[in-house]
Amino acid sequence: MYTAEKRFARLKVYLMCLTMVAASLLLEGCFAQANSPNIDSAYAFSVLKKQCDFGPRPMGVAAHTATRDYLYSELGKYASAVELQNFSRKVGSRNYALSNIVAHFGASKSPGILLCAHWDTRPIADQELESADKKKAISGANDGASGVAVLVALAKVFHDNAPQVPVSIALFDGEDFGPTGDDMYIGSTYFAKHMNRRAYKYGILLDMVGDSKLEIYREGNSEDSAKQVTDNIWQTAAKLGFGSTFRDSVKYTISDDHLPLIEAGLPCADVIDFDYAYWHTLKDTVDKCSPESLRIVGKTIAEVVYSERTTSQTH
Ligand SMILES: [Zn+2]
Repeated sequence: MYTAEKRFARLKVYLMCLTMVAASLLLEGCFAQANSPNIDSAYAFSVLKKQCDFGPRPMGVAAHTATRDYLYSELGKYASAVELQNFSRKVGSRNYALSNIVAHFGASKSPGILLCAHWDTRPIADQELESADKKKAISGANDGASGVAVLVALAKVFHDNAPQVPVSIALFDGEDFGPTGDDMYIGSTYFAKHMNRRAYKYGILLDMVGDSKLEIYREGNSEDSAKQVTDNIWQTAAKLGFGSTFRDSVKYTISDDHLPLIEAGLPCADVIDFDYAYWHTLKDTVDKCSPESLRIVGKTIAEVVYSERTTSQTH
């Protein structure tokens, strides 16, 4: 039997298919340049806020331990393996317990990409004007929590869509203890000393990437030591339409967790917005940060990661 009704049903199916093809072509047209899945910016922001809810998180306080346990458990949800690199450091007369949190994703074939951020916060607000305020510990919403938040959100992305190259996320402890450089970058220095250099092609450090008025300039040490990496990041950001956030010129030269890695022979780029009025003050709080800033940085790094192919496939 071949009725008019059936013909109409066929026509409807045909039109539906046509619409789907047109829609997918349109989507492909819009996102032809993106290779990476989207980042859940609401989740990223919740990870930023959760860290701040613990309170200031410098070495030696209870909030430090609680934050470490939270991040270890959160990364454990997504990683194929997560480890705590525990060690200690004597500062003055006190011995402090520190932990780097290191999570691994994707294929095991080396070399992969190292993504990192520091999870501790500054124990003193040394950029405050009043001497009483200077002695207080900062919340570290941007300086600490923001880089970690992007990386934990990326961990979820890597879990749901395995990248072609192995990726490790290292959350460093003891970056901001201080007050001087003698007692800073403690976790990254420890990590660099113990890492298998051949496991990584390069590293990307995220620090202070949550400012709601985000402007990230190229950083001098990264330009000198990891030019290919910075070019890749800034070109990728421009391709994604983030050129007004990732400004294509050098503005600052900064001592940060990338230096111990560079010294150990690993090119590492520091992605940092140093134009932050609340840096090392008590006003570095959640309300100064935005989910959109975390999304822009997360999407750019995801695009860099998912554009990487294993060496054997590029031959
Ligand atoms: Zn700091």
